Amino acid sequence: MLWFLVPFELFSNNQLPPSAKPSTPRVYVTRQVHFNAAHRLHNAAFDDAWNQKTYGHCNHPNWHGHNYVLEVTLAGPPDPNTGYLMDLGELNRMLQEQIVAKCDHRNLNMDVDFLQGIIPSSENLVIAFWNELARVLPPHLLHRVRLWETPRNMAEYLGETA
Ligand SMILES: [Zn+2]
Repeated sequence: MLWFLVPFELFSNNQLPPSAKPSTPRVYVTRQVHFNAAHRLHNAAFDDAWNQKTYGHCNHPNWHGHNYVLEVTLAGPPDPNTGYLMDLGELNRMLQEQIVAKCDHRNLNMDVDFLQGIIPSSENLVIAFWNELARVLPPHLLHRVRLWETPRNMAEYLGETA
């Protein structure tokens, strides 16, 4: 049978297989936290001129700080008993414990155990934060980690690989 002769009724909603029918609604919830931290972007594999040219102000040898804003988004169906995807107070406690307590008023190059050996760019920080949070959150809830280094510069990670 040629494709254009297939009866229209075959495509009516009643005849879709169960897997193609609308499923549970997926919602997104976000919690925002703040921390202030110092860092220096510097790659010791390259000389000072390369680092200065590459990182500019962020290569300053005596450190500098940012007022970071971290946004963590969870995704999934609301729990039918609570109406919550997750209690945002509980998410906040996890963010404070896993990220803020370790990074706030710290030097990201030197003071944070899970950032050792990492150039603390916003891009690398969102990956590291994702990995820390994925260890403690219920499986499959974590959707996006966003980090604002300045009001105009933001990096985000959705757990994807290139
Ligand atoms: Zn910086």
